[in-house]
Amino acid sequence: MNLPANLLAILACPSCKGKLVWGPERKTLVCRGERLAYPVVNGIPAMVASEARELSPEELEGVDKL
Ligand SMILES: [Zn+2]
Repeated sequence: MNLPANLLAILACPSCKGKLVWGPERKTLVCRGERLAYPVVNGIPAMVASEARELSPEELEGVDKL
């Protein structure tokens, strides 16, 4: 299942209210400002700060190339 393209426009980071971008293979939504990745499970983003994972610099670099 794919999320509608306009979903990103209404989603914001629950922590800093910043813009989110897709992570690799659309398995995560990434807040670049805080380097956090929120998991997307079965097409549903888990927009909860406690579910977020901090990205390594290498992973963040991969996101930037998308
Ligand atoms: Zn954030």
